[in-house]
Amino acid sequence: MIVMKFGGTSVESAAAIERVAGIVKAREERRPVVVVSAMGKTTNRLLAIAAAAIEGRREDYIRQIHDLRDYHSREARQVVPLAERAGLDRFLDEQFQELTELVKGLAVLGELTPRSVDAISSYGERLSSYIVTLAFRHFGMAATHLDSREVVITDRRHTQATPDFPETYRRLAHAIPPMAEKSVVVMGGFIAATLEGVTTTLGRGGSDFTASIVGAGIGAEEIQIWTDVDGMLTADPTILPGGHRVKSISFAEAAELAYFGAKVLHPATVVPAMEKNIPVLILNSRRPDVAGTRITAEPVPCANVVKSIACKRKITLVNIQSTRMLMAHGFLRRIFDVFDRFETSVDMVATSEVSVSLTIDNAASIDAILAELRQFAEPAVEHDNVIVCLVGENIRYTPGVARRVFMALDGINIRMISQGASLLNISFVVAEADLRPTVEALHREFFSTLDPGVFERNEATRGGAIHGGAVHA
Ligand code: ADP
Ligand code: ASP
Ligand code: MG
Repeated sequence: MIVMKFGGTSVESAAAIERVAGIVKAREERRPVVVVSAMGKTTNRLLAIAAAAIEGRREDYIRQIHDLRDYHSREARQVVPLAERAGLDRFLDEQFQELTELVKGLAVLGELTPRSVDAISSYGERLSSYIVTLAFRHFGMAATHLDSREVVITDRRHTQATPDFPETYRRLAHAIPPMAEKSVVVMGGFIAATLEGVTTTLGRGGSDFTASIVGAGIGAEEIQIWTDVDGMLTADPTILPGGHRVKSISFAEAAELAYFGAKVLHPATVVPAMEKNIPVLILNSRRPDVAGTRITAEPVPCANVVKSIACKRKITLVNIQSTRMLMAHGFLRRIFDVFDRFETSVDMVATSEVSVSLTIDNAASIDAILAELRQFAEPAVEHDNVIVCLVGENIRYTPGVARRVFMALDGINIRMISQGASLLNISFVVAEADLRPTVEALHREFFSTLDPGVFERNEATRGGAIHGGAVHA
């Protein structure tokens, strides 16, 4: 068995779903279990509907629900067999009626709890998984729909739920193999349920995580993440287009990149796969012949120090000065205690004799945190920062990487730097305004020459076209 996960853009339209059907069909003998995201931007649209409801914008949310139904109906009708059209319409009626009632309830309450956020956002994957199942039948495959909420069981931390792995694995191993004998199993990603059957979700981008959980639960031979890029690239293409494809990378490197902002993988994705030692592939559903990125326990030896550059935006930097001349012992503990109490996780830390700098990506409780810190220190805050993170297993064996970073970034103000305890990353903080020049300079420094065993050069950018026209070896 293999798990094949298709993201939002890979199922955004009838044409995209048809492409997916072709890709799955070509691998039918490997007994695929397919995990799909919501179609296109459906999750965002559902959240916008919820926001309109609690703000009492009735016409707005009614219209948006209509539009969302039209969109699903229009695309689905083109890929659903004639004989199943009536069933499709019934299904859409039922789902959208339920959704409308839920949204009206929210409008009355005027309040959005994490539990209702999950209830609403679950409709995206509930719709897409059902539609894709019908589409697979239309394109000549035997396909069975499995409601992920029956098999992926989590705690009650709505919008960010954590799987109960033993229970989930037990259910997956029981339900899926017999179904996959006879047909392609199709499930929604992202959605799950508590033991009591209340709908939860695994956090934004969580369909990747579902795929990995399912893969681990059924002992799949491979977990394939099909998306809209050729694989893990040497830089985030939304910041620096034209990066090169990384052909092979380790679980540890991929996890680090995902954690530090490479949206192509949900940060928790590699954990279940790594535990069961199942390779994860990142592949492009628009260019299925490209070999993508292979993530495994043992990376291929690599002559480059760095594998990729990740960026985590909208970071808040907190600088904390001790009010005494020297830090009293227990100072750090008191600081972390405060962040802990407000459930705010700290990403990076740097300390000196009299001060501590740290970064957080969730600034929701920052005012309360500052108030507490002021009782024993002098905190100052800077918003609009970015963590830039270089990742590569070789960083730990190569002296002088930090020096190369500083030389390359001559003229850019580095506000904080840390080499992670994992030893496979160097990360630092720059202002949002410096992001593009920073990534450009680092990309030029670390990827002008490429180990052909590990990277596939992006031919469109040969000669350094992405580096502002400068020519590099
Ligand atoms: P999906 O809907 O298939 O899950 P996502 O939008 O979640 O797709 O993830 C794919 C996107 O991740 C790409 O379109 C790209 O913009 C972004 N991305 C960020 N960093 C990287 C990187 N290093 N390599 C490839 N893609 C990246
Ligand atoms: N549909 C969900 C989201 O947009 C999950 C996913 O796509 O992975 O976050
Ligand atoms: Mg994603």
